[in-house]
Amino acid sequence: MSVSVVQPSRTAWSRLRPFGAEQVDLRTGFWADRVRINREHTIPHGLDQLRRAGTLDNLRLADGYRAAADSTGTTLPFLDSDVYKWLEAVGWELARGPDPGLAASADEVIALVTATQRADGYLNSYVQAGDGEPYRDLSWGHELYCLGHLIQAAVAWHRALGDDRLLDVAIRAADHLPGPLVDGHPNIEMALVELARVTGDRRRLTTAARMLELRGHGTLPGARFGAGYWQDHEPVRDAATVAGHAVRQLYLDCGAVDVAVELGDDRLLGAVRRRWDDMIRTRTYLTGGLGSRHRDEAFGDPYELPPDRAYAETCAAIASVMLAWRLLLATGEAGYADAIERTMYNGVLPGISLTGTRFFYTNPLQRRTHRVLDGAGPRLPWYPCACCPPNLMRLLSTWQQYLATGDDSGIQVHQYAAAEVRTELPSGPARLRIDTGYPWDGRIVLSLLETPAEPWTLSLRVPRWCRTATLTGPDGTLAVGAGMVKRHRRWQPGDVVELSLDLPARITEPDPRIDAVRGCVAVERGPLVYCIETADAPGRTEIEELIWDPSREPDVQPRPDVAEAMIGVTVPVLRRRSGAPATAGAIPYFAWANREPGAMRVWIPR
Ligand SMILES: [Zn+2]
Repeated sequence: MSVSVVQPSRTAWSRLRPFGAEQVDLRTGFWADRVRINREHTIPHGLDQLRRAGTLDNLRLADGYRAAADSTGTTLPFLDSDVYKWLEAVGWELARGPDPGLAASADEVIALVTATQRADGYLNSYVQAGDGEPYRDLSWGHELYCLGHLIQAAVAWHRALGDDRLLDVAIRAADHLPGPLVDGHPNIEMALVELARVTGDRRRLTTAARMLELRGHGTLPGARFGAGYWQDHEPVRDAATVAGHAVRQLYLDCGAVDVAVELGDDRLLGAVRRRWDDMIRTRTYLTGGLGSRHRDEAFGDPYELPPDRAYAETCAAIASVMLAWRLLLATGEAGYADAIERTMYNGVLPGISLTGTRFFYTNPLQRRTHRVLDGAGPRLPWYPCACCPPNLMRLLSTWQQYLATGDDSGIQVHQYAAAEVRTELPSGPARLRIDTGYPWDGRIVLSLLETPAEPWTLSLRVPRWCRTATLTGPDGTLAVGAGMVKRHRRWQPGDVVELSLDLPARITEPDPRIDAVRGCVAVERGPLVYCIETADAPGRTEIEELIWDPSREPDVQPRPDVAEAMIGVTVPVLRRRSGAPATAGAIPYFAWANREPGAMRVWIPR
């Protein structure tokens, strides 16, 4: 049986089957590097920060460990979730390869979690260290949210390692729930569905489905930002658009897809798809970032997408990848994989430094020189509200699972990285090696190392941004358009298919309804959005002084000074005052803020 982060039941209404962690290896290149840095640097750094921040001490305090009272023990209700997200990441990492040090640290943390659980199954350090009265503040208490993260960590350890220490804790904690409740921060819904999938206990699924039905009737008290803030304004299956706090909405819709595919509830799935389509069309930044408002971490109005005031929380981008993945599995539609690609490169990765140990919580598309002079915003090693860093850890530790899927007809490759994919097709085992320098290089070579004798279909995603692509294989060479390209044939070991995606630097104009960037252009190349930083402005000009020069074309250039193998774009600009032509060296947006503090912009005025 395969082990993956989202695992629809065999009876679920799901078009594609995820590949398990054990079926895909990242070999070398861009993503192998990001995932290695996560394992070697980010996750150990995370443990260190959980210790320093007092997040682990919170569990000790709840367990009556008074000696920790002089710690920096913090007082936000949702901090246990950071411990669980860290554990989830470690579970997947240990499945990818042994690490005795990491395993020992995880054992310690699991023992701490286990010891903190009350005899009646309840587990939440904030409540236990306080008045000990559960479920009193469903609006703001995050108790079910934390329980959801505990379950997700437990499911990961069960699936990845067959280790049920956390699962036992999670089941007892879930059993403590008095019934379906509405929590101010969704997350429990998708977790309960996964718990049902792992244990076969359908009551968990029924509870999750009921929680979805209960939401949307204005029952949560204390809605200081309005009931839409936590999606309690309209029933989940009726709401036409996303609303309120972006992460809450997206986690809620993840749960809705999970319930819908398990129950074959097309209407529920349809509601999520409609919201998704509207969100992509009207409320999504070029980077895939989501959330235009700082005040309530919320989606804005349609086309309210200011680059400088973008909230675009790293967690919202992560949640969007989680939701798009569920929709891709449910429908098989390539557009969801397009969204995952855009968001991973440009919405998720900007949240973490190239070293893997500094983070952004919000991801604006512009930082003015004035703000830098004011000392604004270097990346930080951790945050008092530290939801994003461990969320990045768990996503990166599972990223290889998002590359490809299978169904009875064959294999679908959705994301490109140097990797090896192994699966069992109905007619026998198949093994596929992928060689590529993506995203810097658009040539992707797929070699069949092993294949059944019966014909089957190899499907490759041609990204929507790609205007010229060719596919070369045993049948010759042909031009292919965006979407899933399918090749059905009797494959032989040694067959090679080459997909070539043309990667010129391209100029993107914004939708004219986005007032904040009207009259600007952005530069993209392949799946990457680019930006200009002060360090690459001509003669260190303030970047606000530069305007786009339409009379010249952008060009590409290697940028090993920023990162190995990186390709930059030379952007033609004019100096605003003198009109003198110059060039600025744009780098991928995900790599910004890794050098000296400087200003940055994605959208360049014409
Ligand atoms: Zn976050």
